[in-house]
Amino acid sequence: MSSPKHDLFIAGQWVSGASYQPNVNPSNHEDVLGYYAQADLPLVETAVAAAHQVFESWSVSGIQQRSDALAFIGAELIARQFELGTLLAREEGKTRKEAIAEVVRAGQIFQFFAGECLRMTGDILPSVRPGVSVEISREAVGVVGVITPWNFPIAIPAWKIAPALAYGNCVVFKPADVAPGSAWALAEIISRSGIPAGVFNLVMGSGRVVGECMVNHPHISAMTFTGSTGTGMQIAQKSAAQLKKVQLEMGGKNPQVVLDDADLQQAVELSVNSAFFSTGQRCTATSRFIVTEGIHDRYVAAMKERMAQLRVGDALADDTDIGPVASRSQLEQDLSYVQIGRDEGATLAIGGTLLERGAPGNYLAPALFTETHNQMRINREEIFGPVATVIRVKDYEEALAVANDTQFGLSAGIATTSLIYASHFKRHSQAGMVMVNVATAGVDYHVPFGGRKASSYGPREQGSYAKEFYTVVKTSYTYA
Ligand code: NDP
Repeated sequence: MSSPKHDLFIAGQWVSGASYQPNVNPSNHEDVLGYYAQADLPLVETAVAAAHQVFESWSVSGIQQRSDALAFIGAELIARQFELGTLLAREEGKTRKEAIAEVVRAGQIFQFFAGECLRMTGDILPSVRPGVSVEISREAVGVVGVITPWNFPIAIPAWKIAPALAYGNCVVFKPADVAPGSAWALAEIISRSGIPAGVFNLVMGSGRVVGECMVNHPHISAMTFTGSTGTGMQIAQKSAAQLKKVQLEMGGKNPQVVLDDADLQQAVELSVNSAFFSTGQRCTATSRFIVTEGIHDRYVAAMKERMAQLRVGDALADDTDIGPVASRSQLEQDLSYVQIGRDEGATLAIGGTLLERGAPGNYLAPALFTETHNQMRINREEIFGPVATVIRVKDYEEALAVANDTQFGLSAGIATTSLIYASHFKRHSQAGMVMVNVATAGVDYHVPFGGRKASSYGPREQGSYAKEFYTVVKTSYTYA
C-alpha cells in the first residue's frame, strides 16, 4: 500500500495500467504522492465486462452481505480519518482539518447506506380486478458508471458508490485525474470489504479516454456524474442516445443575500466560510454576495477586515485557514477571472494575487470584487476558486430577483433576522438547496442533495432519495 505505484482494480485483481501519472501536491510541486495507473480502452472493457458478468448474482445477493460490506468500509474510513485526511489534503489542497472532516463524511455515508439497504420497502395494493394483487418493488439498475471531480475526492465517490452497492448495482468508477489518491485508498478498502470480484472496479485515467468509453458502453446501464456543466451536458446527450439512466451534479453560481436586518458578524462568518473555505472549490460555494444598501458598506468593510486575517498556506500546516488551489490549470482559470473582473470595471477590494509560501505551490489570496453588477461575466460564469463578488441592491425584492437571475440553481442563502423574508426566500429561491443564516456550502449526508437549472439533472443524490436513481421500479400482478 505504501508503494508509489498504484494500480487499477478490475475483476477483483490489482492490474497494471497502460501508463502511470504522477500525483503532485498543490502545496509543494516537488512533492509527488505516487504514480497512478491510467487505463486504456481494453482495460475499461475488461472492467465493464467483469461488472456485467457478476451483476445478475450480485443484484439478488443477501442484503446482510451488502450491509456488512458497507459497514466495514464506513468503519475503516472513520478509523483511518487522520491518515486518509492527510493524504487528501496533500493531493487536493484543502486544509487537513477540512480533509479529515471529508473522510469522516465519506465513512458516515457508507454507514448510512449500510442501514439503508436493510430498509428497502415496497407496496402491496389491491388490484382493480377481483382476485388479483399488485406488488410494487425496486430492483437494481445494472452496471453504474461513476465519474467524479477532484474537489471532494473521497466524499463524492462515497455518496455515489455506497448507494450503488447498497441497492445491488455493480460499479465502474473513474475518479478525476487531478486527485486519484483518495479514490485509490477508498478502492483499496472496498477491495477488502468482502464483496465479490467484479462488483466494484476502479479505472483511473482521463475523461476523454476512460470517461467517454464508459458513457458510450452498452453494458453500462446508468451514469452518475459530478463535474462541470459542459462535460455533464455531453454525458447527458450520449447517455440519452443509448437510453441510459443519467444523474448529473454540475456547476453553480450560488448567491448569498445579506439584508439590512442581518446579524453582521454572523453574516460575515458564514460568507467567509461559504466563499473561501476549501479554497472556494465547492460546487455549493457562494460566489455572489447580494447585499442591500443599508448594510452594504459596513458589510464590505467587515469582510475585508476578516479576509485580511485568513492565513493561506500549506494544506498540512496547522495554522492554515485556506490551502492552495488544487491544480495549476485551475489557478490559471482563477487568475484569468480576476483579470476579467478588472477589465469589466469591478473594484478588486482585496486579494486576487499570487502568494509566495516557500515551497512552489498554487497559492492565491482570496479575492473579493465590489461594485459589480449581475451581467458581468464574473457574476455569470462559474470560476470555481476563491474569487467572490458583491452586488449592491436596493431591497429584498431586488436581491431575490438578482439571486435567481442565473443559469445555475444549486444552493442559495439569505442572512436575515426577518422570519417573513426568510420564509419568502425559501419559497421563491430557484435553487435546489436554500440556507437561512447558514453557509451555502456544507450539507448533511442523510438528506437529498442537488440543484435545478444547469446545476443538476436527474434524480437527487444522497439520503433515502438516492434510491430513485439507483433502482428501477417493478410492478407485479398475482392472481391467486
Ligand atoms: P470536469 O467536468 O472537467 O471533470 C469531472 C469528471 O469528468 C472528471 O473525472 C473528468 O476526468 C471527467 N471527464 C472530463 N471530460 C469527460 C468526458 N468527455 N467524458 C466523460 N468524463 C469526462 O470537472 P472538474 O473535475 O474540473 O470539477 C470541477 C467542476 O465540478 C466544477 O464546475 C464544479 O462546480 C463541479 N462540481 C459540482 C458538484 C455538484 O455536486 N454539483 C460538486 C463538485 C464539483 P479527468 O480526470 O480527465 O478530469
